[in-house]
Amino acid sequence: MAEKEKIVIIGGGLVGSATAYQAALLAKAEGRNVDIILLEAGKKGELRGGSDGESRITREITFENPIYAELARESNLIADKLGIGIVRPANVLILGNDTDYILKKAYAAAEKSNAKYDVVNGSLLEDQFPYLNPKGLQGVNEHAFNPKTGKGAGVLNPALLVTRLQEAAAKLGVTIQHEASVKKVTDAADGGATITLKSGETINVDKAVVSVGAWAEHILDHPVARAVTPKMGPLFYYKVPEEMEEKFKNFPALIYKLSGGAGFVAQHPDFVARNPDFPLHDKNHSEGFYMMMERDLDGTMWIKVGHSEPAMQVRHDVDVLSANHKIASALGRFTADFMREFLPGLAEVIPSIKTGWAEKTGKGPMAFTPEDRPIIDTIGDNKAIVVAEFCNGGGAKTACAVGEMVAHYALGTPERIPENRRKEFSLEGRNLPALPDGREFSDVITAPNGLRGVKLIRKNMKSI
Ligand SMILES: Cc1cc2nc3c(=O)[nH]c(=O)nc-3n(C[C@H](O)[C@H](O)[C@H](O)COP(=O)(O)OP(=O)(O)OC[C@H]3O[C@@H](n4cnc5c(N)ncnc54)[C@H](O)[C@@H]3O)c2cc1C
Repeated sequence: MAEKEKIVIIGGGLVGSATAYQAALLAKAEGRNVDIILLEAGKKGELRGGSDGESRITREITFENPIYAELARESNLIADKLGIGIVRPANVLILGNDTDYILKKAYAAAEKSNAKYDVVNGSLLEDQFPYLNPKGLQGVNEHAFNPKTGKGAGVLNPALLVTRLQEAAAKLGVTIQHEASVKKVTDAADGGATITLKSGETINVDKAVVSVGAWAEHILDHPVARAVTPKMGPLFYYKVPEEMEEKFKNFPALIYKLSGGAGFVAQHPDFVARNPDFPLHDKNHSEGFYMMMERDLDGTMWIKVGHSEPAMQVRHDVDVLSANHKIASALGRFTADFMREFLPGLAEVIPSIKTGWAEKTGKGPMAFTPEDRPIIDTIGDNKAIVVAEFCNGGGAKTACAVGEMVAHYALGTPERIPENRRKEFSLEGRNLPALPDGREFSDVITAPNGLRGVKLIRKNMKSI
């Protein structure tokens, strides 16, 4: 083991980049002699994980545990110091139908979050957002970010935030290596961890931070990696006509949760009839749509619509790409149908919603854990491998503050993390899946209809 402490962070998405920055800040403040290296599989400027793209919703009303609201708030303040923070303050509407248990959760989360919000329904919704003309929905309206109080909701730019975090980390002495793909991380025989790169090079380190998002299974032989399910989140972009841009500049971010039993897409007879093989994650799960306004660098304005359910289970980034075509053809029509049914006002003014054909599609890998709870903890006999899985739809809004927690694990000072946070994300008491003997991951991610997800994606590719 080298005399100088060595911490290697694997994965340069939001969480890994925030960890690199925060670890360097903490080490500097304490005068510690630490070598911090960030290894990212992608090329410089290329984001291959969930932190890709130009927009993510940030909000305080998230889960019922107020820790998430605190983390989002802290994260925004940290991001502000880096010169970006909330790119666009925006109200966030969390809407559903009145029987939806997830909507009830949203009310409970709102109450506990200490956020500024109103309860909105029927006529109030129509008065406040006439151009949406939302039908039959109710929910909460979280107020837009206020720079004076540092509180509130809006839309972040994840790709820009990654760039700023990496620039700030590099200034503090972090070495950032791109095109450095890691093959395995294991306990080292003499303490610490050993990182094996795909190039064959091995590095012995005091701490290895695994912040590879959805791809933990690829580099860890540990049940914790099995607990991370990678899914592909599909995105559809509808172009806002130039003459409508002024009207849309304060477009709120919206989150819809529709009740599980009568799901809009997964249970829709047309969808099921046309796509009998579609490997849905969980047909009984409530369906979720979200949307926000996004602007291209050239100023083109889009309404971006994403699905949190149904989503397709995937294995490799190449599967993410191929699944995208399948998703685009299967879900595109239903996305527009949904918009026309619940937001008729929007469908009237955006031609591609009216015609049902999005001008652009996109995708991003999402990572889910069984209890829908992020994981930050050490694993392995040497406790030298730090796992940082903070996805589940909450990863962008909290990343900067999460980086600080992960950095404490990397620096061996987890006791400095408030106890309630440490407990919320630790592995203690979790039911992790067993490691199947000699079986491939694709055997494990069996779709509810009994077909294998990965195989199915390939099969479907041929017919496109
Ligand atoms: C479509 C979509 C919409 C979302 N919407 C929201 C939202 O509105 N609000 C919100 O708060 N969150 C949202 N999220 C979640 C949030 O964006 C993610 O939680 C977050 O970006 C994940 O960051 P990460 O660093 O954990 O993982 P990633 O960004 O996936 O980073 C992992 C990195 O590890 C690298 N890597 C993988 N394998 C290796 C290897 N073997 N060696 C080296 N490097 C490797 C990858 O290339 C990648 O850059 C959304 C996610 C998606 C995909």
